Parts: sequence; structure tokens; C-alpha cells
Amino acid sequence: MTDIRDDARAAFRDLFDREPDGLWSGPGRVNLIGEHTDYNDGFVLPFAIDRRTVAAVAVRDDRILRVASGFADELVELDLANLAPEALRGWSAYPLGVAWALGESELGERGADLGAVPGVDIFLDSDVPVGAGLSSSAAIECAVAVALNDVWQLGLNRKALARAGQLAENTAVGAPTGIMDQTASLFGEEGAAVFLDCRSLESRPVRLGLADAGLSLIVIDTATAHNLADGGYRDRRASCELAARTLGIPSLRDLDLDGLPHAKEVLDEVTFRRARHVVTENRRVLDTVRLLSQEGPGAIGDILTASHRSLRDDFEVSTPELDLAVETALGCGALGARMTGGGFGGAAIALLPETEDSLLRVAIDGAFAEHGYSQPDIFRVNASVGARRDT
Ligand code: ADP
Ligand code: MG
Repeated sequence: MTDIRDDARAAFRDLFDREPDGLWSGPGRVNLIGEHTDYNDGFVLPFAIDRRTVAAVAVRDDRILRVASGFADELVELDLANLAPEALRGWSAYPLGVAWALGESELGERGADLGAVPGVDIFLDSDVPVGAGLSSSAAIECAVAVALNDVWQLGLNRKALARAGQLAENTAVGAPTGIMDQTASLFGEEGAAVFLDCRSLESRPVRLGLADAGLSLIVIDTATAHNLADGGYRDRRASCELAARTLGIPSLRDLDLDGLPHAKEVLDEVTFRRARHVVTENRRVLDTVRLLSQEGPGAIGDILTASHRSLRDDFEVSTPELDLAVETALGCGALGARMTGGGFGGAAIALLPETEDSLLRVAIDGAFAEHGYSQPDIFRVNASVGARRDT
């Protein structure tokens, strides 16, 4: 099996005609549960996956940044003096946006001084599917963030690096996303999910215990388009903000199940359903965390499926392909299944006995063919370690 680290090193050598100083990598993530709760100050439970973006990096003796990627087949060059979010576009806005964000004072009192750092050459390679809802964007951001933090000796902590990734995505790319993906990519641990309180930004690992229970998590990437920078995502955020404003609370985090009857009286029907999804989803995340530690992963199936139904019916961000993936998985032995990621396409996950893997593949392939949908990519994911130096 070829390792993308070998590929990245070889491609760096070919392109830049020297050895990289080192390799750094950042994982993609799967959100186990807690969808559209992050920007409502709520709870999420993602995990870093065993698919990563690798950055091969070497410092230069001038102030030029050069970045290339196997994904884009393009070399982008920029003087550090001209590093500004407005100057960045296309895929390079992710890595160069991180370089810019590392110098922003809002990362904390140690907001790095980029005035004297050297230029760098970066080559990126990845086996995270792009645009599938597995956050190839956080993988690239976090790989670059840990790499630059090291080679520029910035001494930023992981919380600040996560914030830098988010800032790059919000400001340089222009996608109004929360901090969940970067937190998962930076704080992931083998065999554990990352429980994140998006208000306090405190996170802690939660053991998944899949292997002990003989279970596996399967991703079904429907390969249908989604674009978080698009209208649907903004529209859902706006609905949540409207609900909180109307209810006179800072965010939907401050509404609980007991408050739903009152919310139903004062909100219009659609806004109420959006709010109900967020409130019930926060509850489902807390229940999942509790059940994982008390009873193990075999106990969380129904909650995963309830999350899907809520996203489909109340939040209305699922698609026919995602619904088909979920229902087919449930029909062939999955304990639970749900769409994962922001929705409007992308991937679903299914929790099922290891022994049912191949049955699921056949069933999904058949169901998708029958509906005339293009064949999804189906693969198992394991909870993996967060972004780090990778020699
Ligand atoms: P997701 O994060 O769900 O995969 P996004 O739309 O948020 O989808 O991010 C995908 C974008 O991130 C790509 O279109 C590309 O611009 C950028 N990107 C991700 N991975 C890479 C990579 N390895 N090389 C270059 N650009 C990448
Ligand atoms: Mg993304």
C-alpha cells in the first residue's frame, strides 16, 4: 500500500528540487452526532478519521510562500508582505488563509508576529474525499496550521490553531462555518470521539469502544454536490438566529426541551421546526456521550437514527440520496444511521456489526442502482489521532 506521506515527499522533491524539512498531517472528520448545533453554541461529537491531508514543508531563505497540491495541479506563489485574505482565492485560500490567520491578534495574547518569519514551500497530498462532508477543508487547514506553527516556531496552542483554521475558512474562503471541524482535526485521538461544547470551547475525548463491541462505522459518500458557502446553510443559520432573537435568548443553546411549547407559540412554523431540531439534537449529543461511557456504542443506534429524522423533517437539509443510504443501511442490520456533515448532499454514516460490512455494500449499491443514482463510495472509518508532525 502506498502511503500518501511517501507521495507527498516525492512530489515535493520533484516540484521544489530539494528535501522537505518535514511532514505534517491533519485528519478529516466524521461528525458522529450534533449537526447544525455548533453555530448555536451547542454540543457536537465528531471524531478525526484515518484519512489525512499531508503537508510536506520546507522553509526558504526569502519571504515567498509557495503552495502546491496534488488535488489542484497548480503552484501558487505569494510574498508574505502581500498576505491578506482579499488576495486569496480558489483552493489556495485554505492553506494561505491559515498562514494569514496565524498572525491575527484575535488568536490570543500570543497572536503570532509574522513580521520576521521566513517564506516556505508547501506540497499537499490527501486521501480525504473532497466535498463529501468529511471536512477535507479542516484537514488541509490543520495540516498547514501545525506545520507553520512548528517551522515558524510560533508556540501557539491547539485551541489557537483551531481558531486560525476557522478564521481562514470564514474570512479568506468566505464560508461561515463553526469551529467543530478544526477541533476534531486537532484534538482527535485514536479510538475516541471529541466532545466539544461550542460555547466554552472546552473539549474532551470520549471513548467509542467500537472494536470491543464488534461494531464498525461505515461512511456512504453519495458523491452529490454540497457547498457550505451556499444559500441553504446561510438560510438555516439565519433561521436559528431569528429564533433566538424572537425568544430573547443569546442562542438556541439556551433553549431546552421544556421551552419548546412556548417557542411553538411565538415562532412561525418553519422557524420553530429549525429550533426544535437544534434543541433535540443538543439533547441527543449529551445522551450519546452518556450512553457511550455507560453502555458502549451498541446503545446509541436509535439516537443516531433520530438525529437523521430530525435533520430530514425538522431542519430539512437531507437529500433523497442520503435518505436512501440511511434507510437501506437500517434495512440490512445497521443499529443506527444518519446523514453527517452540513447536508444538501455529502455522506451518511451507519453503525453496524463488523460482520455485516459486505452485506451493506451490496444492499446500498443495489438500492442506488435501482433509483438511478450514481454509485456511492463506501468505506469504513476509524477514530484516529489529530493533526501532528508526521516525520
Ligand atoms: P469538505 O470540507 O466537506 O471536504 P469544503 O467545500 O468545505 O468540503 O472544502 C473543499 C475545498 O477545500 C476544495 O474545493 C478545495 O478548495 C479545498 N481542499 C481540500 N482539500 C484540498 C487539498 N488536498 N488540496 C487543495 N485543496 C483542497
Ligand atoms: Mg469543509
